[in-house]
Amino acid sequence: MQQDVAAIIVAAGRGMRAGAGLPKQWREIAGAPVVAHTLRVFHGAGIKRLVLVIHPDDRALARQVTRNEVTIVDGGETRTDSVRKALETLAENPPKNVLIHDAARPLVSSRLIADVLAALETTPAAAPALAVVDALWQGRDKHVAHSVSRAGLFRAQTPQGFDFAAILKAHRVYQGEAADDVEIARALGLEVAITEGCEDNLKLTYPADFKRAAKILAERQSGTMDIRIGNGYDVHRFGPGEGCWLCGVLVPHERALMGHSDADVGMHALTDAIYGALAEGDIGRHFPPSDPQWKGAASHIFLRHACELARARGFHVANCDVTLVCERPKIGPHAAAMQAALADIMGCPPERISVKATTSERLGFTGREEGIAALATACLIANGKETS
Ligand code: MG
Repeated sequence: MQQDVAAIIVAAGRGMRAGAGLPKQWREIAGAPVVAHTLRVFHGAGIKRLVLVIHPDDRALARQVTRNEVTIVDGGETRTDSVRKALETLAENPPKNVLIHDAARPLVSSRLIADVLAALETTPAAAPALAVVDALWQGRDKHVAHSVSRAGLFRAQTPQGFDFAAILKAHRVYQGEAADDVEIARALGLEVAITEGCEDNLKLTYPADFKRAAKILAERQSGTMDIRIGNGYDVHRFGPGEGCWLCGVLVPHERALMGHSDADVGMHALTDAIYGALAEGDIGRHFPPSDPQWKGAASHIFLRHACELARARGFHVANCDVTLVCERPKIGPHAAAMQAALADIMGCPPERISVKATTSERLGFTGREEGIAALATACLIANGKETS
């Protein structure tokens, strides 16, 4: 889709204000150099042709973060020179459009890139920016000389996008050093559309910027959700009695399940699946069988506890699935009632709870009707912080 677009990533600066002895774009953040994060966003946005402009001293660093399809170009004395050299490299096989981006803005997003490219369909130049919201002052000797109107003022960001032929021409005729490529485009009289910038798309400059960017990257890498999966398995033997408690429903049968509690094998498996997802052991850890107070206890106490523990950690049950393994009693006629009973105990919608059954073809202890086995899976989700 982005066949005829190239991107120039400008990483030739020597900015040391961020500390740590390396130019800022080569410092590590969230486990990788800043440049690597920046390149990843452009790869992810489907930009196939990438030119990375570097300082000649950084060639070894550049090779560590680039794949074969990235062209590495030595920069010039100034940012303007560096961009011009990259444009000349592309001119050998010119793309239709080019994006020019500062490597020190690793928090650029696919959305920002897409907005600039969309604008280029109707204009020769486009760039993201944010309207100035703070009051502005002209200062003199650490005092306010006078206020300045912020009306119509924007903070410029990158990537700045251009019709390739137009920006190449603008760079070839431009004299001196410009703050950015929009300035060079404007010098040639190009119309530049403003697209919506993003506060996260900050230019890493000071140590505090790295801290903020690392936090945002960590959130992006973990996504906005924390997803946990657990499984549970339980078996109870048949003994004398009438009816079996299964998933909160007393199912008529000529025998009962034996156990320390009410022996609800399905609910035990499900409870263990939730504890498992939380890495919180199993029912036995929270309700020791050695403790007489749990003798004959209704299993909903255990399931309710597991769900409360999940909620206390910020999780909710996204869904769960219980399979009962037995020849008899037949589960099908009771499955809907079991689903409703579990939903009531767990405090979640019934459509997120599945109860089903299978026989074991008369094989093994379940086939011989010596007992019932149950398996369960539970998926828990915690919603993370919103990333803006
Ligand atoms: Mg059990």
